[in-house]
Amino acid sequence: ASFRRIADTDHKVGAFLALNEDGARKQAAELDAQLASGGERGLLFGLPGGLKDNMVTEGLRTTCGSRFLENYDPIYDATVVQKLRKAQSVTIGKNNMDEFAMGGSNENSAYRPARNPWNLERVPGGSSGGSAAAVAAGQVYFSLGSDTGGSIRQPAAYCGVVGLKPTYGLVSRFGLVAFASSLDQIGPITKNVEDTAYVLQAIAGHDERDSTSADVNIPDYLSALNGDVKGLRIGVPKEYFGEGIDPQVKEKVLEALKVFESMGAVWEEVSLPHTDYAVAAYYLLASSEASSNLARFDGVRYGVRAENPANLLDLYRRSRSEGFGAEVKRRIMLGTYALSSGYYDAYYKKAQQARTLIKRDFDQVFEQFDLIIGPTAPTTAFKLGEQINDPLTMYLNDICTIPVSLAGLPAISVPCGLADGMPVGLQIIGKPFDEPAVLRAAHAYE
Ligand code: GLN
Repeated sequence: ASFRRIADTDHKVGAFLALNEDGARKQAAELDAQLASGGERGLLFGLPGGLKDNMVTEGLRTTCGSRFLENYDPIYDATVVQKLRKAQSVTIGKNNMDEFAMGGSNENSAYRPARNPWNLERVPGGSSGGSAAAVAAGQVYFSLGSDTGGSIRQPAAYCGVVGLKPTYGLVSRFGLVAFASSLDQIGPITKNVEDTAYVLQAIAGHDERDSTSADVNIPDYLSALNGDVKGLRIGVPKEYFGEGIDPQVKEKVLEALKVFESMGAVWEEVSLPHTDYAVAAYYLLASSEASSNLARFDGVRYGVRAENPANLLDLYRRSRSEGFGAEVKRRIMLGTYALSSGYYDAYYKKAQQARTLIKRDFDQVFEQFDLIIGPTAPTTAFKLGEQINDPLTMYLNDICTIPVSLAGLPAISVPCGLADGMPVGLQIIGKPFDEPAVLRAAHAYE
């Protein structure tokens, strides 16, 4: 049914870059056989799922939305892929994305832009736009996305589905092609909060192959969904309703807060005073880390290689010039510049200091509040082509998601109504590793 749905819809939506048709049928047949011989059902038994194309899959093409990796068939599975298999879900294919997860509209995919199933003239968001579009279009029950500065939450908001960025370190990054290692985090995109809890349960947990993986006990996320938000204290940051917020988005978020009130929660306006510095700090830090992480793409070890190089430098130069798209090059140049000697203190170090202040803002609010709630993005999905030539405007879409990433906190986006026919996302932010509170509130609201 999943492949049929994809055949019927994906020529319009563009959510998949590769399909795992033979592999999936084989996997499904194995599950049937196991069940027939009295085996137990795994947590995600038989559920068709997608994977953003930056998670490596043994023998299944993994492009990261880039020409550079157009011929790359990995020789191993990412930890999340192994965990999904153990939970007995079936991998349907690899979802479209902005090249190397850099972008917020999917228009930076080197192959084709994914489109928003609610309105094909609009973007699905990004960079996990293919994952969100696939779930919204009913092609799969869930997909894994990755979120560095909003790339799970913002596309989930634009496509009217649920997306969770877990606490940094909760889900292993082993086998996730790195964009910005101190920020990257894998998480589920699903139709509802219960499904998110199931998928999170399957993929969370310590992994010795990822040195930043957190060694914490994994709670039972499903039992957190008990509907009880009575007495819950919610902080609502005034900075998330500033310049650039669509009045209709604001109205929907305020309506959602009324729903929380009616369930016995209380909310108050709070301040996260360093929010203004978040976008600048993020683009310096993420680009710096990216410039270093992407150094491995040299035309020798992975992917495409320029033809007939004159010498080694020519091989590097032409492979990288031909393999990377414009946005990736922009970030590599920005990051290399910010890290270069003489500029390090002025840019990278300053950005790290701003990151600390942003994290402290959250710590202070969490001394008095259980959760922070606001919009996921200041607007609904914009039209394809509308922002692609204006990177700064594109960067500002992430104003509500980036601070959370810099602080490493868990946050979910849940649908909270429509504005001019397009979905609006409500963002619920929690304390580190307090996914249970985030999921409980999101589930009670939804
Ligand atoms: N839009 C942001 C960027 O382009 C976030 C990307 C992400 O979270 N991967 O960097």
